Amino acid sequence: MARRIVIVGGGIAGLTLAERLTRKDENLDVTVLERYRTPGGLARTFTRDGFSFDIGPHRFHTSDNAVKNYLLEIMGDEHVTIKRRSNVYMGGRRRNWPLTLDAVLDLPSSVLVRCLFDLFRKNEVEKIETFADHVISRYGRGLYDYFFRAYTKKFTGLDPEELHADWAEAGVNRAVIDKNVKADNLLSLVKGILAPKPVSTIFYYPSSGGIQTFCEKQARLVLERGGTIVYGCEATGLETHLGRVTGVKTAGMGTFDSDMVYWSAPLTILWPRTGFRFMDTLLCNIALPSVRDNDYQWCYFGQEDIIFSRLTVPRHFRADMVPTDHDSITAEITIRDDDLRKNPGKLESRLLADLEKVGAVDPSKILFMDWMVVPETYPIYDLDYRRRLAGLKPPQGFRLIGRCGSFWYNNMDHSIGQALAISAGRDFSRDFWKKS
Ligand SMILES: Cc1cc2nc3c(=O)[nH]c(=O)nc-3n(C[C@H](O)[C@H](O)[C@H](O)COP(=O)(O)OP(=O)(O)OC[C@H]3O[C@@H](n4cnc5c(N)ncnc54)[C@H](O)[C@@H]3O)c2cc1C
Repeated sequence: MARRIVIVGGGIAGLTLAERLTRKDENLDVTVLERYRTPGGLARTFTRDGFSFDIGPHRFHTSDNAVKNYLLEIMGDEHVTIKRRSNVYMGGRRRNWPLTLDAVLDLPSSVLVRCLFDLFRKNEVEKIETFADHVISRYGRGLYDYFFRAYTKKFTGLDPEELHADWAEAGVNRAVIDKNVKADNLLSLVKGILAPKPVSTIFYYPSSGGIQTFCEKQARLVLERGGTIVYGCEATGLETHLGRVTGVKTAGMGTFDSDMVYWSAPLTILWPRTGFRFMDTLLCNIALPSVRDNDYQWCYFGQEDIIFSRLTVPRHFRADMVPTDHDSITAEITIRDDDLRKNPGKLESRLLADLEKVGAVDPSKILFMDWMVVPETYPIYDLDYRRRLAGLKPPQGFRLIGRCGSFWYNNMDHSIGQALAISAGRDFSRDFWKKS
């Protein structure tokens, strides 16, 4: 039985694991190493002058009862439930998402004709390997050409022919989270639009602060039970002896001895030359002096000529995310460009023009704009990534977990589910790329 456990990364996966392990056995010596000064990882919240911004929209939604019970156990009464309100920007207007009949009838007639044709056409894809194969085989070439190709290219910077089909399995299903909305192929999409079932997707959110409040609660529990969290501590590698992990090396803080290591930091730190890549996200958090008519929690933008892929309106998560009678919005742009990482502000005029074009912001009425680069937000599923993952040879007493550790395009509930399974000694070997 491992006694000294080191968990690298104080995001949701690392903290859930630490919280469960310290709860299960007070004799375990559990240490979390976190490179930032706060917990939460991708689920952090930034505040300025009474405005709170998460890293893009962060909703808790799950159909897994164990995960839901865990959420409620940690949050107790200190949560709110919110009805989902998402939009997608198409044909120069915002539409409800999932799409309704009037929005579909508004699509260009050439697209509608092609979709109708696709409905009755034999599937042209023989073998599903790429993102493009997956989408064309499920939704037809009409919708692929009209929406999926441009959105995916804009979001990932890669041609959909160069992306693994798992990117579609995870991402497309993720956008339609309500099980009542059947949208896994063109026929079910059409049925869902013609005869929609009532959908009311509820998600959970902390009743104070932002999404980071959840992680702060987890961190408090870990500390109360005798665990240790070392903030500002960057893990740089492993120390091993005879093929077994003996410690985690850090930048400037020495080595943390361990019998077992769980690693939720990017796996590229340990395997830098294996070709795994992540995208980064550029966030622009904008504070507004008055309330705007942006009536959605988040809205997707697939168009190539619009710089952001999503806008989020924090006050639709909780009214006190902004001061009274004020508003705010977050624009998300995925990047792979080093120059932009160093100088995101050079996108400012383009961003403001696009925000004005879609009616989201009046550039002359802005209180402040904060740019943030969030590294390693999405794993890039190129065609070879599964083979490379299977080829990794981790030492004994070591396990990759979480989004960047497992190289998993997942959500918070998946990171929690994985950590719950591991802490309970259950195997987590299901094909999580597909099921997530
Ligand atoms: C824009 C955006 C929107 C999202 N929206 C949602 C949503 O609505 N709902 C949802 O459920 N999920 C959402 N997600 C996904 C969700 O954020 C992640 O699935 C989840 O937070 C992953 O948690 P994790 O602990 O696995 O990984 P991470 O949060 O990445 O945690 C890894 C931790 O390791 C730390 N670390 C990294 N390197 C080192 C190092 N060298 N040494 C020490 N520590 C290190 C990091 O700082 C981080 O704290 C969204 C993600 C993004 C990017």
